Amino acid sequence: MNLCDIDVIRTVLAKHGFHFSKSLGQNFLTDVSVPQRIAAMSGAAEAGGVVEVGPGMGCLTAELCRVAGRVVAVELDRALLPVLDETLAEFDNFEVVQGDVLALDLAALCKEKFGDGRVVACANLPYYITTPAITALLDSRAFDQITVMVQKEVAQRICAAPGTAAYSAFSIYVQYRAAAEILFDVPADCFVPRPKVDSAVLRLTPLAQPAVETQDEKLFFSLVRAAFNMRRKTLVNALGPVLGDRLGKDGIAALIESVGLDVRVRGERLSLADYARLADAAAAKLAQR
Ligand code: SAM
Repeated sequence: MNLCDIDVIRTVLAKHGFHFSKSLGQNFLTDVSVPQRIAAMSGAAEAGGVVEVGPGMGCLTAELCRVAGRVVAVELDRALLPVLDETLAEFDNFEVVQGDVLALDLAALCKEKFGDGRVVACANLPYYITTPAITALLDSRAFDQITVMVQKEVAQRICAAPGTAAYSAFSIYVQYRAAAEILFDVPADCFVPRPKVDSAVLRLTPLAQPAVETQDEKLFFSLVRAAFNMRRKTLVNALGPVLGDRLGKDGIAALIESVGLDVRVRGERLSLADYARLADAAAAKLAQR
């Protein structure tokens, strides 16, 4: 059964009385080469496990079942469970867990299902949970590789370099924890219903150690968030809400200069290493007070 064939999709879904839910981000793939490529590049192996988020009617799941030892798919929509029973009946290495991926303890799920074995994550993510889902997958520290399809602009934002319009606090969050690369683009007409935006497949390879070393991770991220909350302002002004009451504007300016940055710089130009140096210098200054 070609689960990306539009006639198969319509027939199977009609048989089960299933209707697409926009609010659950249900856009199913209609080009079988896409799930095949994702599965081939996902790092899934015969000896390992896969956690898939949002199997839908199972087109990517089926390809993952062909290359992986065992696939556990987390699906929120109960209406898809009888559909998956039918479409994935030929695979005995598949299991569905009904639930919200954002409410699950992913590390505990991996431990329960795969023990200490190697596990990768894979998904055509529903658009409405892209950021929290990627955050949850990375925070779980349970995966050797995370391969997700997301809106193209989000993929570009995640991989963006300092000084570019796409660079954001989320770029820094992800790049702090993982090596990020775009594998390939997927146009909007590869889905039913057709979304308004194009997509891209993103590979995240979690790092054993964060990309940069910082004494105070909490302070590092609060500086990053403050800088991007007011990205059109200079860093001196943008850091006011976090450091102003303790260091004053002159103190913040001195801090920025002390790590070799121009006092007129904007936060969007700083690399992760710049933020790490800034956070460490700020922590040292705050400790003196
Ligand atoms: N994998 C299928 C494909 O590529 O055709 C479907 C992908 S569709 C973009 C997203 C899927 O995620 C849907 O099946 C939807 O029901 C499911 N989903 C939505 N929110 C979810 C959540 N919070 N937790 C788990 N699954 C969710």
